Amino acid sequence: MRIRVGLNGYGTIGKRVAMAVMKQDDMELVGIVKKSYDYSVEQARAMNMKIYVPSEAEAKSFEAAGVKVEGTLKDLLASVNVIIDATPGGVGAQYKPLYAAARVRQIYQGGEKKDIAQVSFSSLCNYSQALGKESARVVSCNTTGLLRIICGVNSKVGVRRVRAVIVRRGADPREVKRGPINSVELDPPKAPSHHALDVQSVIPVDIVTVAVAIPTTLMHVHHVTLKLERSVTKADVISILESTPRIMLVNSERSGITGTAGIIEAARDVRMRYDVPELVVFEDSIHVDGDEVMLFQAIHQESIVVPENVDAVRALAEIEEDPQRSIAKTDQSLGLNKRLW
Ligand code: NAD
Repeated sequence: MRIRVGLNGYGTIGKRVAMAVMKQDDMELVGIVKKSYDYSVEQARAMNMKIYVPSEAEAKSFEAAGVKVEGTLKDLLASVNVIIDATPGGVGAQYKPLYAAARVRQIYQGGEKKDIAQVSFSSLCNYSQALGKESARVVSCNTTGLLRIICGVNSKVGVRRVRAVIVRRGADPREVKRGPINSVELDPPKAPSHHALDVQSVIPVDIVTVAVAIPTTLMHVHHVTLKLERSVTKADVISILESTPRIMLVNSERSGITGTAGIIEAARDVRMRYDVPELVVFEDSIHVDGDEVMLFQAIHQESIVVPENVDAVRALAEIEEDPQRSIAKTDQSLGLNKRLW
């Protein structure tokens, strides 16, 4: 059986998730909801996506551009099993009653409050908890990156404590109204930052995070310190990370890549939109002192949550009970885990 999926909010995250859903042989993208007409509507139509609008009122801007829409969000909801909401933070909460009335399973993004859904979701950490649930919230890009490293390591050696400094990109490339900033801005100015609480919405781990925003659009970078249940060697850590899906090591000495510009330049040559949904760990930055591991990791904020959304569909719809099988299927369809350097 193919799960019928709808997507509301065709922006940075939504357009990537829509294309990822189209690549799954156990899912069908029934349509996308677009609020106003722009070039991306033509691109979506060229990919055979069916276009819906939030309500009749929005159809006018499409008609003016000569585009006949398939219907409204309500129409779309009537013909899907799962709706993925990728509207701006807080807007998903306004739609929730409509989704619930249509009795469709719901996936929200990290910009929504955690109580919007029955479970906050990370594929490597708690896929099984989402099985058959009505709603899940895929946590934010920074939280997804933190959870990948924590749960990846924890599956082999227990993680007792996490401390992380988050260096956030100031804005996404297309967000002209948010940047550039000229500051290393404490964001937020107090500790801990909300990322620690967001991690704890998925797993009960001792974690403290602080965050700054800087003038870049490419990626976030974290400096993470993990206190483990036993001593390990650097070779142990490398071997754990190499065997964890959706984590990619970059060896700076060999590749010449020493930062986010290098990662993105490598991805530009081989990846659509230079997307890097994998968590990238700088291998040479791994420092081990007994049971303490320190490392730098980079997160491509625009794409890291895409595979998680695909897995969340499988979990809610209960078409795959085994997390590892869903992760492998998603990754294979999206061409992930292949070395870029
Ligand atoms: P975005 O602004 O790029 O896209 C949102 C889209 O929703 C836009 O196309 C907008 O026109 C549309 N929209 C606005 N109001 C709407 C409405 N009432 N009905 C239907 N569509 C509407 O935002 P984004 O960056 O894709 O973020 C979406 C969600 O994903 C947020 O919760 C955000 O926190 C989360 N998220 C964003 C990132 C990131 O770095 N961009 C990373 C992870 C998670």
